[in-house]
Amino acid sequence: MSDLTRLTLKSALEGLESKAFSSVELTRAHIEAVEQARALNAYVLETPDKALAMAQASDARRAQGEAGALDGAPLGIKDLFCTEGVRSTACSKILGEFRPTYESNVTANLWRDGAVMLGKLNMDEFAMGSSNETSAFGPVINPWRGAGETTPLTPGGSSGGSAAAVAAQLCLGATATDTGGSIRQPAALTGTVGIKPTYGRCSRWGVVAFASSLDQAGPIARTVEDAALLLTSMAGHDARDSTSLDIAVPDFASFVGKSVKGMRVGIPKEYRVEGMPAEIEQLWEQGIAWLKEAGCEIVEVSLPHTKYALPAYYIVAPAEASSNLARYDGMRYGLRVDGANLTETYEQTRAAGFGEEVKRRILIGTYVLSAGYYDAYYLKAQKVRQRIADDFDQAFEKVDALLTPTAPSAAFPLGENADDPVAMYLNDIFTVTVNLAGLPGMSVPAGVDAKGLPLGLQLIGRALDEGSLFSLGGVIEQAAGFTARPDRWW
Ligand code: GLN
Repeated sequence: MSDLTRLTLKSALEGLESKAFSSVELTRAHIEAVEQARALNAYVLETPDKALAMAQASDARRAQGEAGALDGAPLGIKDLFCTEGVRSTACSKILGEFRPTYESNVTANLWRDGAVMLGKLNMDEFAMGSSNETSAFGPVINPWRGAGETTPLTPGGSSGGSAAAVAAQLCLGATATDTGGSIRQPAALTGTVGIKPTYGRCSRWGVVAFASSLDQAGPIARTVEDAALLLTSMAGHDARDSTSLDIAVPDFASFVGKSVKGMRVGIPKEYRVEGMPAEIEQLWEQGIAWLKEAGCEIVEVSLPHTKYALPAYYIVAPAEASSNLARYDGMRYGLRVDGANLTETYEQTRAAGFGEEVKRRILIGTYVLSAGYYDAYYLKAQKVRQRIADDFDQAFEKVDALLTPTAPSAAFPLGENADDPVAMYLNDIFTVTVNLAGLPGMSVPAGVDAKGLPLGLQLIGRALDEGSLFSLGGVIEQAAGFTARPDRWW
């Protein structure tokens, strides 16, 4: 296998610029790596011909001196993003062989800057899940294994394919989405960096909707700087998404390496949950020590409504999902199972097309929105959501950012929580609050557990202050010196 797949995005762009190699060479190396890694099930669609055509066009642009910010860099795209003429399924049977006639805004931005598409990445069906096991294409296998073990582990979810592909060097970076943790939790479980930007930073146009008030796109990458380069390209105003923010996108990479001296970082005491493994507790302490050494002031803060976040999320998200998923009726796209009449066709199509977890969400969502229950569940959850946002507002009067663990455990064996939805939902305990409040959150690899499996720390920032996260994330990355890579067994 070629060494070109071991490069960071940043160093690959430098190599392209100095003509050390061409985009075609870089892309070929990745196509080969993808073909050799099918056992991981990270890609649900490989697009090598498209990749090579894009790489050739990129080399031609560079020869003309017209290279964009990401020109020639091969990336993977989560299957939740619509890609023009390329099958996009949200990893659900109900979308069948759907080929969108349009390109999502986020991916269009990446192609505008010259990036190359290697293919579509596996994920939980409609991004509902924390282990990638709800995908219609089967689970992704984490490239990481416990020392001396062969038990297949989850890469996390829902962006499990994105995280696994980045960790296994099957792309230089990937798009992902995060409704309740789906960028950050898989990043933590695979030793990669993931950032969910502020709600509204990236356009949701052309991203298959799960819970529209929570969904946000972002990158998964191998370094903090790579994540900054990708987010700078992905973000930006788009009039086709009414929640897209009409504000300038900073050069996020310029924040990486900046001094964090004097920054105040809050440690929310409610995040010390019962039963958290000692290793995660220790990693958190270590993170605090690193930030202190870098000159940050550490402040204990309180986010008193944290304990209501998970139940509130698991009401709001399914409620919105039940409404968003009503469009899959067998009439317009994807699967259709014909019944004796229209109603039966709807019923049979939806029964055959949606998986168990998606059905569970639609049932919960429909229930909490139904007459008589709306006030008791949905309205109450909305009130809790406001309280959670207020908690953060108060904390950010005292501090500039927060530091927490990303996930309550390292990668767990596939199948472990599969028949216990509540145990699975507990994975999101540290991440959902950030979506409910619309804030930016980043996961940075910070260490490994006793089995050698990666663990991540989460940084949470004020709305629109991704910059501080990139600075603080850079400090943790440097201090942790996390260079461990999974041994290639696939
Ligand atoms: N695990 C959470 C869920 O299943 C979050 C998913 C996501 O962020 N897309 O809802």
